[in-house]
Amino acid sequence: MKRKVLIIYTGGTIGMEKDYATGSLVPFDFSNIFKRMPEMNLMECEVSVKSFDYPVDSSDMGPKQWQGIAKIVQENYEAFDGFVILHGTDTMSYTASALSFMLKNLGKPVVLTGSQLPIGDLRTDAKENLLTSLYYASLYENDEAVIQEVTLYFEYKLLRGNRSLKFSAEYFDAYQSPNYSILGQSGVHLNIDKDSLLKPKSTNFEIDLHLDENVLFWRIFPGMNFDFLLEVTSVKVIILQVFGSGTIFNNEKTERVLRELRQRKVEIIVISQCVSGGISFGKYSNSNIFSQVGAINGKDMTAEAAITKSMHLLNNPRYKTNFAELFDEDICGEVTKDFH
Ligand code: ASP
Repeated sequence: MKRKVLIIYTGGTIGMEKDYATGSLVPFDFSNIFKRMPEMNLMECEVSVKSFDYPVDSSDMGPKQWQGIAKIVQENYEAFDGFVILHGTDTMSYTASALSFMLKNLGKPVVLTGSQLPIGDLRTDAKENLLTSLYYASLYENDEAVIQEVTLYFEYKLLRGNRSLKFSAEYFDAYQSPNYSILGQSGVHLNIDKDSLLKPKSTNFEIDLHLDENVLFWRIFPGMNFDFLLEVTSVKVIILQVFGSGTIFNNEKTERVLRELRQRKVEIIVISQCVSGGISFGKYSNSNIFSQVGAINGKDMTAEAAITKSMHLLNNPRYKTNFAELFDEDICGEVTKDFH
């Protein structure tokens, strides 16, 4: 049976070409992709393309565009067996993370991909990324999708979307998943690690478009003026990116500021500046303040996942429990539940 895959083209380098007048990269009409890449006609799956009306550099992606993608997936969910989202690389991990929370009980593959060089470039990485993503998005066994979660494919690796992060602006091998195993690897064979894949909790696919933007991300650094944090008055969630396994300056000011924020009912989430490993409250005395003020342990989550999870959970009428308890839950494989 020929599987049907929908490509959702949002923008990014993959679909750009050089405007020789200005020398800058600009998006081309992606519906011409079959002419530019005749290899696509050789795929075993049937491919359709839907393009954003105005493709964007991924630095222009945000909640509105994530909601747009979620709606396209929903509208086409019954008609297609899988989805490939073509996206700029700069914020692809944010979109992948956001979608992982928004697409509930996903029973079909969603694969985000992009490229470091435009598809028309002789040395492009776009073709392999796109063709293999289409392969993963159409992978079925016994009439069941092998991948039933939001993933990101780049340079021979299939990663869980909400565990991925862009770490190189230079190399084709641009993404890592430091705290979760690689879901699939493409070499001579296209491999998949079935034990690492997520299984949906139910078969009732639905989308949740709720995203609250009252979230702030703050990286601490030696010598910073911690009082600045109190100046952002409307914020409801602060994600503090602290040192190593969870340490921060051990002084009266830190305690005063954190207590003041908690009094204002601000949720404080603690994640690490290290890309691999995570937070252990209590390991060093310089982390004790977090438990004392009731901060939330972000464990081994990426910044992208912590930010989009906060936007998804904050004031979301879907959930009945409080924010801290919800945040501690593993919703869709974004955190190692028993991490310490
Ligand atoms: N600036 C581009 C984007 O993220 C970079 C890329 O696609 O690789 O849209």
